[in-house]
Amino acid sequence: MNIKTKLLLGIGIMAGMIILLVILSIVNLQILTATDPNSPAALPGLERALTWISVTGGVCILTGLLLLFWLPRSINRPINELTQGILEIANHNYEKRLMMANNEEFREVANSFNRMAERLAEYRASTLADILSAKQFLEAIVNSIHEPIIGLNKELEILFINNEALNVLNMKREDVIRNSAEELSLKNDLLRRLIRELVTPNEKKEPLKIYADNKESYFQASYIPINNLSPDPNDSQKLGDVILLKNITEFKELDSAKTTFISTISHELKTPISAIMMSLQLLEDSRIGALNDEQQQLSKSIKENSERLLNITGELLNMTQVEAGKLQLMPKITKPIELIEYAIKANQVQADKFNIQIEVEYPKTKIAKLFVDSEKIAWVLTNLLSNAIRYSKENGRVIIGAKQNGDVIELFVQDFGKGIDPRYHNSIFDRYFRVPGAKVQGSGLGLSISKDFVEAQNGKLTVESELGKGSKFIIFFKV
Ligand code: ADP
Repeated sequence: MNIKTKLLLGIGIMAGMIILLVILSIVNLQILTATDPNSPAALPGLERALTWISVTGGVCILTGLLLLFWLPRSINRPINELTQGILEIANHNYEKRLMMANNEEFREVANSFNRMAERLAEYRASTLADILSAKQFLEAIVNSIHEPIIGLNKELEILFINNEALNVLNMKREDVIRNSAEELSLKNDLLRRLIRELVTPNEKKEPLKIYADNKESYFQASYIPINNLSPDPNDSQKLGDVILLKNITEFKELDSAKTTFISTISHELKTPISAIMMSLQLLEDSRIGALNDEQQQLSKSIKENSERLLNITGELLNMTQVEAGKLQLMPKITKPIELIEYAIKANQVQADKFNIQIEVEYPKTKIAKLFVDSEKIAWVLTNLLSNAIRYSKENGRVIIGAKQNGDVIELFVQDFGKGIDPRYHNSIFDRYFRVPGAKVQGSGLGLSISKDFVEAQNGKLTVESELGKGSKFIIFFKV
């Protein structure tokens, strides 16, 4: 029954009842006017009429009350059902259906609702299947990568990890996926190091030494930030990070073979070079026979080149010591001035050759002593002073000195030569790096070894330099 019929029926019943009530009242009134109210014959008719009026009135009130409850409820029920259905759909329950076959007005609405829910369910099933297959595909890709790989979201939860990574971390997939890497790292040293480097990146990324599959391997970690693909760069948001570990064991082995090779060669070269120097000394001895001018020039050139060779082999040997981790330090209490004097003495001949003035800047007041391997630091200062002389113009001047700032001692070497382009301020400390176009001969090893020697003793070596104005190299030591 539709709402219109229900309303018409309600109004019809009520109208019928009221008409009946009115007829009965009129009949009652006629009885009253036609008969003598005091005659006993009128009494039963009157009573009957009153009873009918009361019964009809009662039925009228009851029907009215019933209609009052039943009509709004019968209209509200389908509306409530529809609202409930919409809420279910909003909560992704696409299985919800409305049954309103008996309700004429809402039947169509219910049918449309059911059709919509059906479509939504189909759509979800298909997108879910698509998403699942895309996810499986991505997982297959991640697993087929032979290098360990770990994917994290912004909150540092592990979203994906391949078997290689599980192997080096020595963890199980089910313990890892969707878990906080920070919490997991409390019990895993390697993960802790990776997360620490991810959160607070530092410039010097040492290779990771990992013992897995009964062998020692070396890995270099790279951290790739993942941003959403927005065409507008201002709108780009970070989604997470991927940690990729590159297995560099093979390179490390080759590198160590190279270090051993250089070390052996430099060691072997030292003996013949020393023999050449000895022979030259004998040759220059007038007791053996005087050399003519041309021979003297040749002998001088052989001597200079042999010294250079000896220097280079010395540098190479130092480098191999650092690379093989065999740097042996023998620290002792040392006055900074002793180191400076050593460096000046070692470079005096070279400075005189280019007529370069070496000035010393040393505080008159007492300066703290250092606890360092004096041989190594003297070597560093000698190397810095040699550079300052080599990269200065003839007839120039260089300054070597020390000063104390609180509990920090600074040893410095300053020149007023060609200076270094700021682009190369970091690279000059790399092995074999030479500023492009440098005319002075060199190996590109001195500064990198110097840095290693200083840092091995908890010091710092920095450069301040401006093109055309000169350079200042400073060694810092805390006392
Ligand atoms: P090298 O044997 O080439 O001097 P170093 O490691 O000592 O090797 O220096 C690396 C490079 O840094 C040099 O090739 C040079 O270009 C630059 N350099 C070092 N010291 C100075 C300096 N005092 N003035 C200008 N350039 C310098």
